[in-house]
This record gives sequence, structure tokens and C-alpha cells, in this order.
Amino acid sequence: MATDKQLSMAASAIALRGVRLFLSAGRNAMERRAQPAAEPAKHRPKPKPVVPGARPPQKVFDMLARTSKFNKHELEALYAMYRRLVTAAQGILPPTAIGQPPAKVDGIDQGTFRDVMHNTFDMITEEAILERIWITWDRGASGGEGALKFEAWVRGLSVLLRGTEEERRNHCFAVYDLNADGYITRDEMFVLLKNSLLKQPGDEDPDEGVRDLVELVLRKMDVDKDGRVSPEDYKDAVEQEPLLLEAFGQCLPSRRHALAFLKTLNPKPKDLRS
Ligand code: CA
Repeated sequence: MATDKQLSMAASAIALRGVRLFLSAGRNAMERRAQPAAEPAKHRPKPKPVVPGARPPQKVFDMLARTSKFNKHELEALYAMYRRLVTAAQGILPPTAIGQPPAKVDGIDQGTFRDVMHNTFDMITEEAILERIWITWDRGASGGEGALKFEAWVRGLSVLLRGTEEERRNHCFAVYDLNADGYITRDEMFVLLKNSLLKQPGDEDPDEGVRDLVELVLRKMDVDKDGRVSPEDYKDAVEQEPLLLEAFGQCLPSRRHALAFLKTLNPKPKDLRS
């Protein structure tokens, strides 16, 4: 069994890997732009980046401490991470053709989101699934499909890392229900499973194998036998066989990666002194 020290080193390494990869990608992109750093930019006003403030309003912290599964220390750490990610993304947005400052994204953009899922949570899942997670992640009252603000970021991570059975199930179901009509149909299963299966070389009709698999899964999951999977079917099936929770692709980080990340949010007491 790993000691606490080993665990915490592994946790730091994982969290750092994500941020480091992300930051080095940003640096490379800036170098590719080949704007000599020495050139003074004092003649024109510097574009003002939309960088989140040092802290969100206290009432946001208070509300999230009540409604998410993170305590105040963890929320502070998540906010620092959020701020780092948004600030880094500002640096790598490509300039527009006519040299205007690029449009600023107020929050975590989709590319950054994908990188965090890949690098920090090791969710090497299909792009289609990551796209669905991005789309379905609750943006709260502000809504829209734009960047994730801090509140939405915390709510999403709360489900991913500490969600109840029901929250995790609702999350996966929403990802798989491609047209958001409340059912996972044969067609949706076909798309999802086809994406996640490797095609056998020399297969006459690879779709045939996927269709067989769809029927197999449907037989297990369509408990009320109406030819599609409702949230109730899904709940019954997953309760009987937990592996069916992610039958159509990985939507959640592994327990190991979730725990490792959570450890990085909880520094040892001596690190809390300021
Ligand atoms: Ca559907």
C-alpha cells in the first residue's frame, strides 16, 4: 500500500502535468507568432485581458460551499486553478488577421477544458464524448454554450469528483442522449459505440458488428422493452451492473485520478499558513 507521502507526490505530479502541458503549449504558440518580446509595445495601448479578479465575490464562495461538495479551502484552490487556466488561455489566443487584439474569452474555453480533462483527469476518451461533456455541463442561470465561468466549473467538478450515484448517472445519461430528448435510442448507441470501437482490419461490414453490439446492449439496458433506454431503464441496469454506467464511453475520471486531484486541493495544514 502506498504511503501518504507517495500518494501526495503522485497527486501533485498529475495536477502539475496538466497545467505544465497547457502552459508549455501556450508558450510554443506565442513563440510561433514570432513577435519579438523586446519590441516595446508602449506606443499603442495594451489590450486589456479579461482576467478573473484575485477572488470572486465572497457570496459566490459562500454559496458554492453550501451547494457544491467542496469546502472553502478546496474552493480557494479551485479558484486559483481556474484563474491560472483562464489567464494562460488569454496568452495563446491567436491575433486576428488585422492585428486587433483577439476577442477575449471570459472563462474556461473549450480547448482548455479538453486539455484539463485529458491531462489532469486522464480522460483519454473520444473527442465526441468530450464535446458532449462540454455541451452538457450545466452553465447555471447565465446559460449559453460559451466559456465556463467559475461557478459552472465548480458545479461540474463537483459531479465528476464527488457526485452521488444519481448525479453521476444523470451526467453520463445526458452525455449519451445526443439529441437531449430524454432517451438513448438505437441510433445514438450506434454512433457512440461505433466511435469507441476499433475496426477490425478486413472486416467486410464493420457496421454490422456495431449493430449486433447495439442489440446486445439494448437487451441488457432496455428494461421496459420499448426499444430505447429511458433514465429509469438506465438506473435499473446500472444498479444491476455498475459497469454499464459508462457503457458508451468514458464520461468520468477514474477513482484513482479523482482522488489524486482532490489531494492537490488539500495542502497539509502547515501549507495553509499565510
Ligand atoms: Ca435521445
